Amino acid sequence: MKNPKAQEWRSEELSQGRIMDYKAFNFVDGEGVRCSLYVSGCLFHCSGCYNVATWSFSAGIPYTLDLEEQIMEDLAQPYVQGLTLLGGEPFLNTGIILPLVKRIRNELPTKDIWSWTGYTWEELALETPDKLELLKHIDILVDGRYDMSKRNMALQFRGSSNQRIIDVPKSLAAKQIILWENLRE
Ligand code: SF4
Repeated sequence: MKNPKAQEWRSEELSQGRIMDYKAFNFVDGEGVRCSLYVSGCLFHCSGCYNVATWSFSAGIPYTLDLEEQIMEDLAQPYVQGLTLLGGEPFLNTGIILPLVKRIRNELPTKDIWSWTGYTWEELALETPDKLELLKHIDILVDGRYDMSKRNMALQFRGSSNQRIIDVPKSLAAKQIILWENLRE
């Protein structure tokens, strides 16, 4: 597992604007019916990572405006609760993710946005402006590396007990971590 210094990893240097997958209408990547976007590239390299194929920034296929239109159309369905960002590392792909989340905020303001990240909440607070801007558009953040020594398959939406499900707007307002209100374990 790698631990970056603050602002060491930069999306503009690393991201190639590619994604591994897009899955519309799933029930597993957060609360409710969701559309999930899996971006390419992650440098954390956690032991036991569930998706090593996503580590390369050149893996997968290019993110396109046609796909963005499809995502917007899928999200607009009344039974869809929101978008989930996974990876790979969404915060090292801000060039494609930021325009998408801004569009969702403008055009589909009732939809929520979840994101997984290998960064901890405390690390993100010291990160580059693009990552901080993305954080402001996220509703729920599942933070931190996957730690095999803390593996627990019973946990809701995460693989190891160091990871947290954070209510981002409440946490930013309170200047401290407030966990998701529907957390079960
Ligand atoms: S942060 Fe996530 S995608 Fe990246 S190596 Fe760790 S488990 Fe895998």
